[in-house]
Amino acid sequence: MTTHPISILLCTLIFAVASYAIQAEIFTFRDVLAFEARVGDLPSKSRDEKEALLKRKLRNAAEGVERYFFQRELVLFLTNYRNRKDAIEYCLSRPPLENDYLYRAHCAFAESEESALLEEKVVQIITDAVKNNDLNDKAFLLNRLAWWMSQRGEIATAFAYYEEALISVSSENTSLLNQIMFDAATNYIAHGNDEYVKRGIDLMKKFRKSMYEQKEDATDPNVINTINRSIILSEFNSGIAYLLHLEQYDRALDAFQPLFDLNSDISANALSFSAYAAAQTQQIEKAKELYARAEKERDGYATIDQYLACYRRLAEQSWNPEVNLTDCMMIKPDTALEVQIHLFKVLSKNSNKDVQLYGLKKLRDIFENKLEKKLKNQISQTASNVEMKRLQRESELKSVVLEQQKQLRRAIDEKHENRSKLFIAMFVIFLFVIALIYIQFRHKKKMADQFERMSLRDSLTKIGNRRFFEHNIERELSFVKRANLMDHETKLLFCIFDVDHFKKVNDTFGHAVGDDVLKEMAQRINHLIRSTDLFVRWGGEEFICIFRVTEDEQIPLLATRLLSAINNSPFLLNHGELSLNVTCTVGIVAFPFIDTKNIDDWTKLVSLADLALYHGKELGRNCWVYLENINVKNEAQVDTLLAQNIEKSVEHQLIAISTSKEQ
Ligand code: GH3
Ligand code: MG
Ligand code: MG
Repeated sequence: MTTHPISILLCTLIFAVASYAIQAEIFTFRDVLAFEARVGDLPSKSRDEKEALLKRKLRNAAEGVERYFFQRELVLFLTNYRNRKDAIEYCLSRPPLENDYLYRAHCAFAESEESALLEEKVVQIITDAVKNNDLNDKAFLLNRLAWWMSQRGEIATAFAYYEEALISVSSENTSLLNQIMFDAATNYIAHGNDEYVKRGIDLMKKFRKSMYEQKEDATDPNVINTINRSIILSEFNSGIAYLLHLEQYDRALDAFQPLFDLNSDISANALSFSAYAAAQTQQIEKAKELYARAEKERDGYATIDQYLACYRRLAEQSWNPEVNLTDCMMIKPDTALEVQIHLFKVLSKNSNKDVQLYGLKKLRDIFENKLEKKLKNQISQTASNVEMKRLQRESELKSVVLEQQKQLRRAIDEKHENRSKLFIAMFVIFLFVIALIYIQFRHKKKMADQFERMSLRDSLTKIGNRRFFEHNIERELSFVKRANLMDHETKLLFCIFDVDHFKKVNDTFGHAVGDDVLKEMAQRINHLIRSTDLFVRWGGEEFICIFRVTEDEQIPLLATRLLSAINNSPFLLNHGELSLNVTCTVGIVAFPFIDTKNIDDWTKLVSLADLALYHGKELGRNCWVYLENINVKNEAQVDTLLAQNIEKSVEHQLIAISTSKEQ
């Protein structure tokens, strides 16, 4: 199998592009940190050596992470220790990664050290770091920003950033905390008022405490060395604070004491300063001894030698008033400002008029050339910074408020949703309850109706009972009364009928057959009458039927039909097994019974019909008897009628009787 040359070329090309991409551009800040961990600390003794080393490494670096890393290191080095302008070209040629906040900040510093934009730029980078939750970077950069601000003489702003850095730094990040404490303390001491100087001394104390703790755990001699140096610097700074700023000479002596034997620039400074401090507290012997040691130990750096010599001369003055102070009149201009101020203040109070004048003149120069400028600058800068910070805080606050509003709205929406859900649920429950009430109501009504029906109906025959009769009879009577008022000849027939020899049926065929007879009876009569006619079981084997009739001729016909309905055909009972001839007797009376005055008490009419019925029984049963008024004029006569024998009433022509029975 042969491989096509073009495919080889293509593969090579892809490989080259891919490896270039991997090497050159495609890396993240994480890769940079990993590379840094691999490289470790770069060995170098002096700053010049370090600069040369970094530049060489950068020249030889491969594209990608390595080049980026050394370029970054170089920028940090140049901005920290060298001319920051040299760093600009590196920053522009290969800009920092978005989340490489330290590199970004140093580039911002390189580009805008003197511009008012510096603070704005770095604050933006810090804001980005916070957004990305890189809180260590936040504290680190705040510390760096504070330092830059203090370098520019914007002391108030610098202090504010130190405070913020101290608040922001995590207590677990000991090394960063220590660095911030040290930097802040140094600045507070160098530039602060008495309050800040005291705070600086406190911070230095805390710093040393932390350093001693670290020293206990440390084993690496290099680390122990660094710690020792830090402790020494911190003690020296505290001494300076007491001596130059607070003028507390005893404490200055205590602070410098541990530094005397170091045999270095520090011990040179400590000895001269201490000689002066001892002289100020009238410890002349001690002052002389320190003076002698200090004379031997020189820093070798002209500026420092110059002002230290002045301090020694001033110490000597306490035991030798004639001392020559010319050393103090030649203070070099690059002497630390805090030293100059202190020295010129001291000289301006000297008993030697020339020295005094020199001191005052120097103080005025410092004020006019440095402090006043800085002061003015500081006031306007502070104003604009304050404004900027206010705006930034406002915008931060605004976003917080907006977020809170959003959350609130969400909560309200949720509440509304819950409320409407609750409302719907309540509405459904309400409907359910209503439905339940309705169903119950319906059920109750049905029961009531049923109960009502049952109470008005006879359970055996299913026709109306005596109560049903009582409920309806008045209506029937009123109907006839009204009809008669309008000259309609209408009568209401009260027919009461009773089964003949019913006891015998019960006795012969049993009570159940008796019941069936009653049911069949009710059915037969029911078929005969109209739905408007009132028909009820009066009790036992007696029934009452009420008919409306308009002509008297209808009466015998109706009565006969009633009888025929029963006696025309035998009753078929026990599922057709038993055929029984059943007869009944009917007593009839008509309403109105009295022409002029009606009987309003219908029970009397029933009693009259009953009277007719019993007469029918006497006549031999299976017949109807109609009792007709002849001469009964009032209710008293009705009572007489009811009380006496029917034949007697016929005899007295009170009533007439017509019957189906041949007599
Ligand atoms: P008469 O021809 O004189 O009316 O003779 P009778 O046997 O019908 O006599 P009476 O009217 O005194 O008897 C009524 C009987 O009807 C008495 C009772 O046992 C019976 N009875 C009443 N109610 C019922 C009922 O609901 N069912 C049955 N099977 N018998 C009943
Ligand atoms: Mg009876
Ligand atoms: Mg009977």
